[in-house]
Amino acid sequence: MTVRDLPPVSDLTEQQQRGWSCVWCGTALTVGEDQDLGEKRARPEGGAAYSWFPRACSDTAACARREQGQAL
Ligand SMILES: [Zn+2]
Repeated sequence: MTVRDLPPVSDLTEQQQRGWSCVWCGTALTVGEDQDLGEKRARPEGGAAYSWFPRACSDTAACARREQGQAL
């Protein structure tokens, strides 16, 4: 599986940082219907490093469509 580069953690919602919502499209995730992208380390400028746990939709095609349809 190819993992895309993740968006900067500072651009994500708390739900996305905690793995409750898809890191790409922001949809709320259901256990078993998502993919674990593994533990990531973030180091905010001037702050302490911490771990976060991105998750994403298992249906990447549907996820990409949702992401494109999203007006940010
Ligand atoms: Zn998604």
